[in-house]
Amino acid sequence: MTCKICDGETAKFDRTKVLGKYSVQYYKCKNCGAIFTEEPYWLNEAYSDAISDLDVGLVSRNLNNVPILSKILDFIYPPRNIAS
Ligand SMILES: [Zn+2]
Repeated sequence: MTCKICDGETAKFDRTKVLGKYSVQYYKCKNCGAIFTEEPYWLNEAYSDAISDLDVGLVSRNLNNVPILSKILDFIYPPRNIAS
C-alpha cells in the first residue's frame, strides 16, 4: 500500500477492531509519517445508524440540553395553573 498523501512507501503500523468486529490494519508512511487504515470498507455500516452503541456521550449531551430546552418550552408554552 502506498501513502494516500505523498504516494510514499508504507509499513504495517498497528491493528484495531472497528465496530467491534472488523480487524483493521493501520499503515504508516515511511516518508511523511501519515497514519491511515486500509481501504475503509466498513463506512457504510458505520454511518447506517444515526445512534451508535459506541457513542457514550449521547445521554450526556441530552441531559445537558434539558435546562435550556425547558426554559424555551416554558416560554413558548407557559405553565398553566391546573388547580384553578
Ligand atoms: Zn506519506
